[in-house]
Amino acid sequence: MATEFSQEAERKDWDTYFMDIAYMVSTRSRCPRRHVGALLMQGKKLLGTAYNGAPMGVQDCSEAGCMIAEEWEAKLIDGKEQIVKKQRCIRTIHAEQNLLLFTDPVNRDGSTVYVTDQPCWTCANMLANSGVKEIVFHRAYPKDGDKVTLLMKQKGIVFRGLKDYEPPAQAKMNVVS
Ligand SMILES: [Zn+2]
Ligand SMILES: [Zn+2]
Repeated sequence: MATEFSQEAERKDWDTYFMDIAYMVSTRSRCPRRHVGALLMQGKKLLGTAYNGAPMGVQDCSEAGCMIAEEWEAKLIDGKEQIVKKQRCIRTIHAEQNLLLFTDPVNRDGSTVYVTDQPCWTCANMLANSGVKEIVFHRAYPKDGDKVTLLMKQKGIVFRGLKDYEPPAQAKMNVVS
């Protein structure tokens, strides 16, 4: 076997390991439209996990159905910008926001967040003010992509999307976008 370990190869290994955990965390979500999982890491130490869900003690999407909000969104279709109607479930607290609610601020300073999905604008804005120094995600969320990427650059937060990553089969689901 090869004995040469480039730093990149080693890093990818840990990325896969942590992203797999984030995907397994996401299976706790009860929203049928999207399962998102997030981890708070200090180096290789796991300090918190969270997924998208309704506040504790109230009905979740599996009991009460999704709470659908409709909004108009600009989208590129065949190279042309068009306004399309989108539906979003607003019943759940996003995984990243739950992660911030249930972790200690001192543990967030200089930390890395692994999250299955690229954060939306609100989550990115909150993470940018939380002490996190790196965010690693898998599935793209193009709607807010440009402004989130710019924000991370302005804040000096490392923002990485994993390519060539395959989620664990048990955690795969179809995302309603
Ligand atoms: Zn829902
Ligand atoms: Zn969000």
